[in-house]
Amino acid sequence: MSYPKIELHVHLEGTLRPEMLISCAQRNGVTLPADTHDGIADLFHFTDLAHFIDVWLMVTSCLRTAEDFRRITVDYAGEAKAHGAVYIEGIFAPLQLVRRGVAWETIYEGFCDGIEEAREVHGTEMRLTPDLTRNATPEEMDESLHYAIAYRERGIVGVGLGAFELEYPPNLYVDAFRRAREGGLRSVPHAGELGPPDAIRDALDLLHADRLRHGIRSIEEPDLVQELKERGTVLDVCLLSNVHVGVVPSLEEHPLPKLVEAGVLCSLSTDDPPMFDTDLTKEYEVAHSLGLHPRAFYDAGLSGALCDETTKARLAAIRDAYDWSALEAPSGQPALG
Ligand SMILES: [Zn+2]
Repeated sequence: MSYPKIELHVHLEGTLRPEMLISCAQRNGVTLPADTHDGIADLFHFTDLAHFIDVWLMVTSCLRTAEDFRRITVDYAGEAKAHGAVYIEGIFAPLQLVRRGVAWETIYEGFCDGIEEAREVHGTEMRLTPDLTRNATPEEMDESLHYAIAYRERGIVGVGLGAFELEYPPNLYVDAFRRAREGGLRSVPHAGELGPPDAIRDALDLLHADRLRHGIRSIEEPDLVQELKERGTVLDVCLLSNVHVGVVPSLEEHPLPKLVEAGVLCSLSTDDPPMFDTDLTKEYEVAHSLGLHPRAFYDAGLSGALCDETTKARLAAIRDAYDWSALEAPSGQPALG
């Protein structure tokens, strides 16, 4: 059994393994550019973030029914559990699905049923943080907020902000995030993956981010790094994703060790595991090779988790019961290129 992990940044639509993707497409009458495991794996070689988003939209187009959403959620809970996950916050982008004709209720019922079943079947605690889509029309934004808030009692704990970071800066979403907060949801935008440090500042000041997805470009401004440390803002870092979409040139050059050293709380996640040829074990192995100990990621994950205090206390007890000292000390020698 692997050591316990908390994962806060995983897109559930992006957890579909090639075989599942193929069978999902067949079931829903969607034609994919490839219909074999290797053919699909070939599609997962990205030239940049825009190319990745294109492929990601193709993958999500295969998901249509409440059963699809329930199943990917339960399947991922089982997979992540095998890598030690005890708590997961899953992301989904409902508007992308609604634009293809799927009903809001179908999407929300499917994912919310999924986290309930994940707890029953795998004992994995999950919450959901749907992404608001940056290019939503005002009407689409109204509906996005309405449904996220309406399903609060069923495990929706916050809203994020996804895709097209450079074209649509945070200041456009002040009102949307204010309404989300008034509806009892927390703020977990993607910021500082591709966007500049100013976008991270605006996510903090204008969107009142409780946590940041990525946030790695903060490393470019020492004052901002200091501010993140002082605020105790958790960054959800996804090592292999950053390299695969080219926002970081190589694992050796990833800013994670510097952020951790500066005292910024960083959790570790997979983002879209099969699309980046990764899983939680791999992410932690890479972090270990960069000289980082898993206990710090658990602490950061716990600090950033948006669940209730009772669940947090349970997650703290899991940490305290585990003998972290038995783990091998990180080498500090990058092992993967
Ligand atoms: Zn993401």
